[in-house]
Amino acid sequence: MATNTTQKIDKKAVWKDILSGICKYVDRGHLLTIFVNSAILSMEEGILTIGFASIIGPNYVKEKYHAQIFEYVSANYPEIKEVRYEMKSSIGDAEYPEKLSLETFMDVIGSEKKPRKIPNKQEILLEGGIRSKILNKRYTLQNFIPGDENKLVHAACMAVGAKPAGIYNPLYIYGGVGLGKTHLLQATGHEILKNYPSKRVVYMTAEQFINKIVDAIGKKHTKPFKDEYRNLDCLIIDDIQFLANKVTSEQEFFHTFNELYDNGKQIILSADKAPRDLKGFDDRLRSRFGMGMLIEIQKPNFETRLAILKSKCHDHQVILDPEILEFIAYNVTNSVREMIGVLITIMGQAQLETEPPTIRSVAQIIRRINNEQEIQTDVSNYNNRVARNIDDVTEMVAKYFALTKTDLISDARKKQIMIPRQICMLIIRESLKESYETIGESFGGRNHTTVMHACSKIKKCLETDLKLERDFKAIKKELGI
Ligand code: ADP
Ligand code: MG
Repeated sequence: MATNTTQKIDKKAVWKDILSGICKYVDRGHLLTIFVNSAILSMEEGILTIGFASIIGPNYVKEKYHAQIFEYVSANYPEIKEVRYEMKSSIGDAEYPEKLSLETFMDVIGSEKKPRKIPNKQEILLEGGIRSKILNKRYTLQNFIPGDENKLVHAACMAVGAKPAGIYNPLYIYGGVGLGKTHLLQATGHEILKNYPSKRVVYMTAEQFINKIVDAIGKKHTKPFKDEYRNLDCLIIDDIQFLANKVTSEQEFFHTFNELYDNGKQIILSADKAPRDLKGFDDRLRSRFGMGMLIEIQKPNFETRLAILKSKCHDHQVILDPEILEFIAYNVTNSVREMIGVLITIMGQAQLETEPPTIRSVAQIIRRINNEQEIQTDVSNYNNRVARNIDDVTEMVAKYFALTKTDLISDARKKQIMIPRQICMLIIRESLKESYETIGESFGGRNHTTVMHACSKIKKCLETDLKLERDFKAIKKELGI
């Protein structure tokens, strides 16, 4: 290869591409420590040299990831015959010219928005040898946190996964952006494949579907297209609203839909709105959308958001201060995608900086990602936060009375334990508006009538017992409720 052509190579772009191709095989911890400070040093005469700032980088990567890197490179850059690894400490400098910016890097390794480009490959290998078309293996039903809000939609997806083309056909999931529609659609595809490895499942966005149709029509050759799509066991189309006003594509989709449906095949769709609110669609199609199961995906509440953040930290093998996670969950409420974006940025920075993230630095990141977001930055106010769940209250009440949580939940009938337990139940009932059943369950599976009785007893005592009233108020003040 001539040197003058290699000089024109955009090393950054090539490295970005290679990273996006291999990052799914690389341990998250290694990405954030070793790969974050890496760059292409040269691409000359068939040799690609990758540099790492860290001393362990070259050998470690060579040993652990050479096979994946080499496979990707050979498939996509056939002129490269050899890959070498070297150390170059200046790559650690923020200004190193050929290094990807942190934002780009995080975007490449952390972006879950777009299904990853799979060059020239329609099929990817999933866990357990399952083959599928264009599913991102990061999306599973097991790593979707349903919370109370999305229990139903999660259960419907599980049901479809267990028995496709049963009662939930078509399954139509709708709702705002960044709430997990794509995740659920792809995860359901996986679940079907897990349970029925030989089924043919295809996931695509409405835009990809339109492009395919336009392409087929352009080539005046629609039969292969028709055969391909009508021979599936499950067709998943994401963001169906983009079919609006695309008359030809819509018609083709209508026929595909009917054929699949009539042949007992599963159809899974997502959209930003309920069928009745979709504009620019033929009524026939809209009514078909509603023939199976329609479910709106809801914004997760604080508890769920926190659980999602914790699970992402676990996936990425990163430990962050619980205060920081709460702060994010508290402030980023509209989109899970945005919330995860904030988390990933923090993880990236935490790897680079010696200082751990603070409420203030996190607030800056949130603002950078979304200007509109109102942020509770007053740290003193934030620290004085309210108790938000049964656990918080139980812990605080136990502490107040110098007991343990186990004491409160236990069957002990001693007055010193029973009264605090009953106070605790009343506070949970009044302040968190939990049902008697839920409270009963949290207190060692007690019957809801026991909880009702406890609450009404304490309420009555509060009218006459001054000491009890004082305790009750003090605890509530401490809990910030
Ligand atoms: P949508 O398609 O509705 O715009 P996505 O499915 O792309 O949203 O979700 C955005 C991001 O949030 C994805 O990374 C997804 O994995 C994550 N996500 C959303 N909801 C949940 C949840 N309940 N549990 C775990 N991850 C979630
Ligand atoms: Mg989506």
